[in-house]
Amino acid sequence: MRKEKEERKEMTLHGQDRKEQKKEMIQFKSEDEMAKLMEVLMELAFSSYMEYKKRIVCLTGGSVAGCLILETTANVNASLQCLFTAESFCGELSYLLDNSVHKLEDTFLRCFVELSRLRKSSEVQGGISKDSLLLALIESATDINPEFTISQQNDAHEFLCHCLTQMEESGRWLGWQEDVDPRCPVRANFKFKMRNIITCSSCGSRQNKVEVFNHISLPLVHNSVDQCLYDIVNNPTVLESKCKMCGGECANSRWTFHTLPRFLILQLNRFKVTEYYTVVKLHMPVEIKPELQINCHPESDTPEIENSKAEARETDRNELGGSAATYRLISVLSHVGSTTLCGHYLSDCSSSSHQWMTYNDQRVTLTTEMDVLKMRSTSAYVLLYERVSTG
Ligand SMILES: [Zn+2]
Repeated sequence: MRKEKEERKEMTLHGQDRKEQKKEMIQFKSEDEMAKLMEVLMELAFSSYMEYKKRIVCLTGGSVAGCLILETTANVNASLQCLFTAESFCGELSYLLDNSVHKLEDTFLRCFVELSRLRKSSEVQGGISKDSLLLALIESATDINPEFTISQQNDAHEFLCHCLTQMEESGRWLGWQEDVDPRCPVRANFKFKMRNIITCSSCGSRQNKVEVFNHISLPLVHNSVDQCLYDIVNNPTVLESKCKMCGGECANSRWTFHTLPRFLILQLNRFKVTEYYTVVKLHMPVEIKPELQINCHPESDTPEIENSKAEARETDRNELGGSAATYRLISVLSHVGSTTLCGHYLSDCSSSSHQWMTYNDQRVTLTTEMDVLKMRSTSAYVLLYERVSTG
């Protein structure tokens, strides 16, 4: 799967079609060159608009094409606004792109950065609108993952995670690293490691492995976010697992944080697949906590069965000592509507001095954290937290 993705990516980067050739010619060193990029982006955006329009005409007869495009860009916009709230992350991306020595530009990264810069400015800057950048970004995402077409209501959480993955993969092409400069901002800000400890119910022997994540999915089993999270990282679940020591087939599995990210994405599982394979939305209220305390346990848990050497090396290399960290809520992405098929996404984002903004389609309005906590308890779908202190 990964290989296929990389091949597709390679085709994207080295393809012979006109658009790709144009992209390869661009290097950002002067205002002239920036203007050239804008021209190409406008063309990309226009061609993607026409392409989308063709697709929608086939599906619907065309009369709602404009509405669907607006709806899709609004949904994508809600996901992006949530990510833009991670300001230091956007700043790192912006700095890396501006100082890149690579001749190759990446449309997705460039559009993301330009949109994050335009966020607080007026609609048009340098002759290109937010909508054009948004369409170019969607087309670039569709090149990598054809699921993100305008013909269906895309899942905002999937799109948000796709953005991180696509930026990380683009960064790999640009030579961004994990441990040395230029560091990949996605890995440095969003990735974290969790340790899964599986204990045999019969003989008590342990298997122990570390996995990397960019978000946590929380089943809505309690009425507050911190309890749902506590459940994931503390309460063991029983699972079928063959023990290498005694042959036992039942084990307890539990997770602990091995490292903590700067920005933590929590997805609340509001969409549930029924036995008839339809998706229903869960409207139960969940208390959104403005602050979370999260414990991190980087120490090795003296496993009976050793990790592989590579995993052991990972174990030794920790960004944080064993401690608790405080996280502050900075953005809430909500799905407003009664079912998965109707309704749309909007996001509430913190800005400076305790002010919050609601991004809903084209409308941007002022709000407060208190209102967000109160009004989004039945619709919050993705929560973004920023680490503010490490104990
Ligand atoms: Zn056993």
